[in-house]
Amino acid sequence: MSREGGCLCGGVTYRISGDLKAPLACHCSQCARTSGNYAAMAACRTDELTIADDGTLSWFQSSPEVRRGFRARCGGNLFWRQDPGDETYVTVGTLTPPTGLRLAEHIFVASRSDFYDIADGLPQKPQW
Ligand SMILES: [Zn+2]
Repeated sequence: MSREGGCLCGGVTYRISGDLKAPLACHCSQCARTSGNYAAMAACRTDELTIADDGTLSWFQSSPEVRRGFRARCGGNLFWRQDPGDETYVTVGTLTPPTGLRLAEHIFVASRSDFYDIADGLPQKPQW
């Protein structure tokens, strides 16, 4: 099953030809600062991800081995990639619904902000 997604203004679209892993919600401070809240992301194989970019997809090096791909025009938070590695996480909210996916777990809950509770009964991990 191939899936498609993209940013708000449509300047970046992507297609995933293979499977996506079950999405996780990351509550780390970096995801909070890039997304405005926790970030729900699902991993695919990087070689099964095709990105169509009109030139304003930017990659921010958020830690020594991690880059985050975002849209410089509309602010879309799209990708998370660890180097070296063969996976890219896409933000699930940028997938065109229906996604057929269900959130599986919460990670980095030890560093989440204090303005919300997690009450969906899914597993919560202090870190990854
Ligand atoms: Zn995070």
